[in-house]
Amino acid sequence: MSKQKKKLLFLIAIQIVITIVHNLLDTQSGFDPNWYKDAGWHYWLGMGFGIYLVFYILTRSCKKCKKPQIIVGPAISQWRWPEDSCWHCGEKIN
Ligand SMILES: [Zn+2]
Repeated sequence: MSKQKKKLLFLIAIQIVITIVHNLLDTQSGFDPNWYKDAGWHYWLGMGFGIYLVFYILTRSCKKCKKPQIIVGPAISQWRWPEDSCWHCGEKIN
């Protein structure tokens, strides 16, 4: 397995753990207009890490040819696991 794929799987695993922890600790039910006041650290952690994860996935690209490495096209079938070298030009990805 490529290093890039391991890193992505690791980040996804962290997101899943945070989501589980949030579900376990979340005490809110129904809509509360002040939900953000008692959303709890686990909510913001999940939110913040989720944004980081999306940002990470969207910004994976080749330095040489600038091709995206994960979200290659709009359809899920066009998404791919990142490899250690670019799928398009073979340049090493860091
Ligand atoms: Zn490339």
